[in-house]
Amino acid sequence: MAVLLSTKPAAMGLWCDALLALDPALEIRMFPDVGDPAEIEAAVVWTAHDMAELRRYPNLKLIVSMGAGVDHLLRPPGPPPGIPVARLVDRMLTSQMGEWVLLNVLRFHRQDLEYRQLQRERTWLELPAPVTAERRIGILGLGELGAHAAGLLRGLGFPVMGWTRRPRAVEDLQTFHGEAGLAAMAARSDILICLLPLTPQTRGIVGAELLARLPRGAFLINGARGGHVVDTDLLAALDSGQVAAAALDVFEPEPLPPEHPFWAHPRVVMTPHAASITIPSSAAPQVVDNLRRARAGQPLLNLVDFAAGY
Ligand code: NDP
Repeated sequence: MAVLLSTKPAAMGLWCDALLALDPALEIRMFPDVGDPAEIEAAVVWTAHDMAELRRYPNLKLIVSMGAGVDHLLRPPGPPPGIPVARLVDRMLTSQMGEWVLLNVLRFHRQDLEYRQLQRERTWLELPAPVTAERRIGILGLGELGAHAAGLLRGLGFPVMGWTRRPRAVEDLQTFHGEAGLAAMAARSDILICLLPLTPQTRGIVGAELLARLPRGAFLINGARGGHVVDTDLLAALDSGQVAAAALDVFEPEPLPPEHPFWAHPRVVMTPHAASITIPSSAAPQVVDNLRRARAGQPLLNLVDFAAGY
């Protein structure tokens, strides 16, 4: 039996080496050279892989996403019925996102956009000192990434709040859920960070209504998916001063077309979906573990809940 590997050409060799280092007996077929479709028992795929294509493997037992987000895999036609999908929960993915969040929180908190502008103008001007304990941070999503970022920010002394789908108690954090909870948290968020999965419930969540609830001059940081943000609403909020600045790593579509206003906006800081990048050697152990579990009929790790959409 064989494992189908499908990712960007540049990453194919790295994934292959990382998996074989852990289990030299694995038979890996690199897409599109799949051989006999009946021999494929698991598919380890990047989010761009066509889910309709996976319907031609009659003995497929498991699909593994090479990323933490699975929105691409779940949108129609979705994975073949009855086949479980596992996503990555990886220490390096989580810590990279934590760093990206810290970078942008500190950029805004320490008035870096303003100081860069003053430097361009050769103006020596001390701005009022920011007070960490008074900069309230609201995080949409307290999962693997959100909870880790919350811990880092708490460690620096920021008051941190989090919003989740299900009620959740987290030490040292004020937590919210539901629509009323979202409105309450937004009203107190000087910096709003989105680390939600993209689902039908969360698409467009950062739109005019939510942005208007933020304290005037708040900051937005989106490291989740471009589909969470309504671009035109964010641009209007930036132009009116309701939102002071935004750090965006994700867009819809990607790559962001060159004519999009975000590129040249003085109050938008962009990265090209690079906040947190899968490193095959770090992610491979859980993939191999799940392949062994699938073969042994044991419970799988990090399974996607199709009903919840993440
Ligand atoms: P998790 O599944 O671990 O956590 C998701 C969190 O979002 C949970 O706290 C969950 O609530 C909450 N949530 C989900 N739906 C809702 C809802 N309708 N209302 C309120 N809260 C909701 O995901 P991760 O932390 O691992 O990843 C989050 C996302 O980050 C990924 O889905 C992906 O899109 C994005 N990502 C971006 C990367 C980048 O480089 N830019 C890299 C990796 C991921 P509950 O706790 O109740 O389940």
